[in-house]
Amino acid sequence: MKARGAVIHEIGGQWTVHDLELDDPQDNEVLIQVMASGLCHSDDHFVTGDIPVALPMVGGHEGAGVVVKVGSKVTRVKPGDHVATLFIPACGECRYCARGQSYICNNGAGMELGLGMDGTPRFHFAESGVGLGGVTRLGTFANYLVCHESQAIRLPDDIPFELACLVSCGVATGWGAAVNGGQVRAGDVVLVMGVGGVGMNAVQGARHAGADHVLVAEPVEWKRNAALDFGATEVFASISDAKQRIAELTNGQGVDVAIVTVGRVDGELLGEAFEATGKAGTTVLVSVGSYEKSITISPQDFTNFAKRLQGVMYGLCNPVADIPRLLQMYKDGRLKLDELVTNRYDVSQINEAYADMHSGKNIRGVVVHTH
Ligand SMILES: [Zn+2]
Ligand SMILES: [Zn+2]
Repeated sequence: MKARGAVIHEIGGQWTVHDLELDDPQDNEVLIQVMASGLCHSDDHFVTGDIPVALPMVGGHEGAGVVVKVGSKVTRVKPGDHVATLFIPACGECRYCARGQSYICNNGAGMELGLGMDGTPRFHFAESGVGLGGVTRLGTFANYLVCHESQAIRLPDDIPFELACLVSCGVATGWGAAVNGGQVRAGDVVLVMGVGGVGMNAVQGARHAGADHVLVAEPVEWKRNAALDFGATEVFASISDAKQRIAELTNGQGVDVAIVTVGRVDGELLGEAFEATGKAGTTVLVSVGSYEKSITISPQDFTNFAKRLQGVMYGLCNPVADIPRLLQMYKDGRLKLDELVTNRYDVSQINEAYADMHSGKNIRGVVVHTH
């Protein structure tokens, strides 16, 4: 069938929108009409080359839509179901899924190629017939996609697609960074560095977990002020601006949990977060950086103060359990989602949309597809 979607061709290049041919779903695959896709920063990391992927590739991994057709062996969803896409599969059977860590499901291996589980592409350029993958085996910047059923989770029918798509990546990642990664507890002092589509949800997660003080360091003024509506208690332009207040609140010790959710991390910034973390505290790293070995932290500081440095993938969430839980919290009025969506775009405006992200105009931009 025909599809249309935004493709990355080369590192540092522009997105271009193409007519595509999409294969039929195989036995365990589903065809999804994608209604909305979040403009996650990770897709930009594929463009910059921070996260190497096979190019060309259809972008987008933060999607929600409607199941159109399913393969003969699919049991998890049926045509007509509203679904969100999972950028890491939740196979339910591998060692990690079995012990409640589906954020590192073994079937995530090889996803940088963007191909089906059998190693062949589902997308093809309409003009040439040449096959190409989709980001994380999805490609939600196309208006239709085919993926494995372990990458689709059923949604309640009354959740708007524009909000559901955000929960499938940015919201789960940020919220889980505080609740699972930082294991924030009642009364904690928490620092969140960077409040975009992920960090804003780390703020929400920290408050849900009972933090008394949630400090935000964010250079963009309107974003740090918006964080106050999501539960931040005090906001600063940088970590150095926050230092004195952190010392006052913690008797000079440092925060219980520091969460790094900036657009791109380097060793220096992570070092600052680690220094801002107090005894027996946790520094949580969510942001993407390069593959270089670049972190400089003091081993003495690490051991003598019993600190933890916790990497976080997918908010250490089990999306099959946690996405419905987060959506229920939204319905109950306890999780803000509407306020995350700053701007909506047609897929043809995708370069403009990412330019807006870079210039700090968006908490989250969302592509709304036409069919
Ligand atoms: Zn994402
Ligand atoms: Zn698994």
